[in-house]
Amino acid sequence: MHTVKLSKQFSFEAAHRLPKAPEGHKCRNLHGHSFRFDVEVMGPVDPETAWFMDYKDISSVAKPIADELDHTYLNEIPGLEDGTSEILARWIWKRLEKNIEGLHRITVYETVNSRCDYYGEEL
Ligand SMILES: [Zn+2]
Repeated sequence: MHTVKLSKQFSFEAAHRLPKAPEGHKCRNLHGHSFRFDVEVMGPVDPETAWFMDYKDISSVAKPIADELDHTYLNEIPGLEDGTSEILARWIWKRLEKNIEGLHRITVYETVNSRCDYYGEEL
């Protein structure tokens, strides 16, 4: 038996602004992103099924979250008033952690080349 990490990606379109960005920063302006996020789980391969988890089981809990965020103004959603990638990654983690086994990482892509990884760690 060996341990694997499985990852599945979801996407949504949303608008936001970052009120805590410095005065004059362009992210204070209302703008939108084609957000993507990866849900990564980690665990052992079950010899009976030859997988750790059915990818469908990731989708069944994470797709509703992507649908809930799609075509919204994130600042109006409780907990996302300051919706940076950092805040969004933790928000998604909190929504998922009780409903999925072996949650390991949430990665939020705000743009094609900007991403934030969150591992559920709190200081
Ligand atoms: Zn932005």
